[in-house]
Amino acid sequence: MIQVPVVEVKDLDLVYVTDREALLALEGLNLSVHPGEFISLVGPSGCGKTTLLSVIAGLLPPSRGEILVHGKPVSGPSPEVGYMMQQDYLFPWRTILDNALLGLELTGRLSKSSKEAVLELLEGMGLGNTGNLYPYQLSGGMRQRVALVRTLATNPDLLLLDEPFSALDYQTKLQLEDLVVDTLRQRGKTGVLVTHDLSEAIAVSDRVIVLAAKPGRIRSTYAIPDNIARAQPFYAREEAGFNDLFHEIWQDLESLEEKEE
Ligand code: ADP
Ligand code: MG
Repeated sequence: MIQVPVVEVKDLDLVYVTDREALLALEGLNLSVHPGEFISLVGPSGCGKTTLLSVIAGLLPPSRGEILVHGKPVSGPSPEVGYMMQQDYLFPWRTILDNALLGLELTGRLSKSSKEAVLELLEGMGLGNTGNLYPYQLSGGMRQRVALVRTLATNPDLLLLDEPFSALDYQTKLQLEDLVVDTLRQRGKTGVLVTHDLSEAIAVSDRVIVLAAKPGRIRSTYAIPDNIARAQPFYAREEAGFNDLFHEIWQDLESLEEKEE
């Protein structure tokens, strides 16, 4: 059976036009992500990782080329695609529960049963007693979990995650990596993660894609061996082959930085 990719990026160019200049942020990008796959994008700062997620999310129209989600051209944001940005963007004046329900509200799908599902998600993420609290009363890790619940609440097939763990302390980050990967696997979701943490990228992904800058393009793709890809992220780092792969990709990234100088 031939499966339609969840995401297809075809010959994508993205140009940012400002008063003073036109910046070619992405050039000639091709990428397919398959159902249930989890991939990571790594590369130097400014290489276009966030731009690529925004194009896939339908927030930025391609300057050239095409983006398909489930085989259909993307023409704007859609409830099939969940986008979790680097900052948690919780509204300080809304309670945790009301923040988590926001996506459902905005898409007109708030009902007794969808609200119940969100309460269960909060519970499952260890946030069971926080519904009536406000964001300032929660730790950074808890707020990121609320943002994740909000992203999952609308039940998107595809999750786009832009450095969701980068502001967290190391222990919280490891716990959240496990939680996110478990949650997406259990629900059969497809994921695209942007991270600047190479060990995280290898630990959580089926594939790691290295982007080069100026203009942003794919430099290389690494398939993660099954033993590492299947292990829980926390244990993946101890699997055979992890360190060798880390060093191989690290050198790839280092040679990119050198070229920039
Ligand atoms: P990354 O997420 O990999 O750090 P970005 O996608 O944020 O990179 O940015 C890619 C390039 O596009 C950078 O050179 C950045 O300065 C530029 N850029 C990003 N957003 C805009 C924008 N709204 N207008 C103009 N240039 C932008
Ligand atoms: Mg970015």
